Amino acid sequence: MSNEFDLVVIGAGSGGVRAARMAAGHGARVAIVEERFFGGTCVNVGCVPKKLFSYGAHFPDEFALAKDFGYSVDSWDFDWPTLRENKSREIERLNGIYKKILDQAGVTIIEGHGRIEGPGRVSVGERVVTTDKILVAVGGKPFVPDFPGKELVRISDDLFYLDQLPARVAVVGGGYIATEFAGILHGLGCEVTQIYRGGLFLRGFDADIREFVAEQMAAHGISLRFNTEVTRIELEREGGTRQVFTERGEQLEFDEVFYATGRVPLLDNLFAEDCMPVLNSGGAIKVDEHYETSIRGVFALGDVTDRLQLTPVALAEGMWLAAYLYGKDKPQAPLDYRNIATAVFSHPNIGTVGMTQEEALAQCGAIRVYKSNFRPMRYTLGDRQVRSMLKLIVDDVSDRVVGLHMAGEDAAEITQGFAVAIKMGATKADFDATVGIHPTAAEELVTMRQGELITASP
Ligand code: FAD
Ligand code: NDP
Repeated sequence: MSNEFDLVVIGAGSGGVRAARMAAGHGARVAIVEERFFGGTCVNVGCVPKKLFSYGAHFPDEFALAKDFGYSVDSWDFDWPTLRENKSREIERLNGIYKKILDQAGVTIIEGHGRIEGPGRVSVGERVVTTDKILVAVGGKPFVPDFPGKELVRISDDLFYLDQLPARVAVVGGGYIATEFAGILHGLGCEVTQIYRGGLFLRGFDADIREFVAEQMAAHGISLRFNTEVTRIELEREGGTRQVFTERGEQLEFDEVFYATGRVPLLDNLFAEDCMPVLNSGGAIKVDEHYETSIRGVFALGDVTDRLQLTPVALAEGMWLAAYLYGKDKPQAPLDYRNIATAVFSHPNIGTVGMTQEEALAQCGAIRVYKSNFRPMRYTLGDRQVRSMLKLIVDDVSDRVVGLHMAGEDAAEITQGFAVAIKMGATKADFDATVGIHPTAAEELVTMRQGELITASP
């Protein structure tokens, strides 16, 4: 007897929806199983509501700036429930759109918890569907380390539905989410302390950019506590403040503590005992270059695997896999993970593509580094010390631009455009031959001429 479906996708997030839709477009019989929210993390508790809040958090700066341009914006008020509810309405609209596009693509939607019972068998409650192939696209969930008082902290999902904004808040972690949340909460009027265990946050990003962002955040009024480990948290009293104890012997007081200390794959009750695929040391599902797990016919992509946890990456993987399994024109090569641009929507934003200075030096041996640190024109009418930083890293032998990093206004938008050039292998000579657009911040990227030659020590 033939199977009901060619492909059953578990998880209707960024990767799952894209793979299901494209596979159906290639003619496959596809079902998708979703237990919580259509659109997944990105749409519901990730990229989209975060970016909306980030926009919202910039308004106080805009009001302050407006004065330098002659406007009187002496009194303004902010109503958190309005922002929260407007955001939630937009997210509900997007949920509906995701369902509709699946429907229109001819994908069968099954709501509930999916579990792989065996090769080609997925249960959702009482129902068991049979399928030729299974795609696991279940994403991840926040990770909070174990320590006394762990139950008193909030995770990233909670920010999007808070009843009220806390007056004093700690954000623990030094990655994307913690740094973005620190900026958002500060912009929305909270007193924010970001606590990070290492010497400088945003590990993995270019060191100059990390330092610059730390300076700018601190100058803006966010308290940064690096080299600080939380040992325990206590509630002052029922309904009272959170007392945060650090290994340096400090006791800090906050109304809320957010933990953003990474995410782990969401494998809860997903596999029957005898069909668990091989995982890596971090608990992510191991896949080959075709996204097949150690179990034949079971594929996985997106945050549940051990690659970059970014929506465009999950989307690209979903499209690649659908074309590979069902397309007429199969992809000729595995997905290329080099030079994937990324942004941190911190205040200031970071945009980055390619290698950091440290990576480039290790790989190229000799590099030229071009830097610019300037006050954008928008801020020159007053005395606000808002700055932007740009950095290009060039392989000295080939002249290729191997890294582009920016922190400051519009960094994400600017980097997206330049990412195409970097992906195509543009050289510094190509940048120099590009006539700038004046007056912009981005023109700095094609006008920097004074590079510093740095060579790896023998
Ligand atoms: P997800 O989008 O997480 O989707 C997985 C889906 O599977 C979910 O809907 C879940 O309910 C469902 N599911 C899980 N288990 C089951 C089951 N057993 N049965 C049925 N359904 C199940 N990325 C960016 O590129 N830019 C950003 O600005 C950005 N901001 C972020 C901000 C935050 C706060 C967070 C948390 C993440 C952010 N990300 C961002 C990361 C991005 O959201 C993820 O990389 C992306 O959503 C991963 O897609 P996915 O398809 O792998 O999983
Ligand atoms: P990240 O991996 O970016 O950062 C995790 C942070 O938590 C690091 O600073 C890490 O420190 C710290 N940490 C880890 N374990 C502990 C611990 N036991 N105690 C104290 N600190 C700890 O994860 P996030 O949670 O910020 O985000 C998850 C992923 O989601 C990101 O990696 C990113 O891929 C994606 N995302 C993308 C966004 C975007 O594109 N703008 C926005 C938000 C999320 P250390 O560095 O020392 O290891």
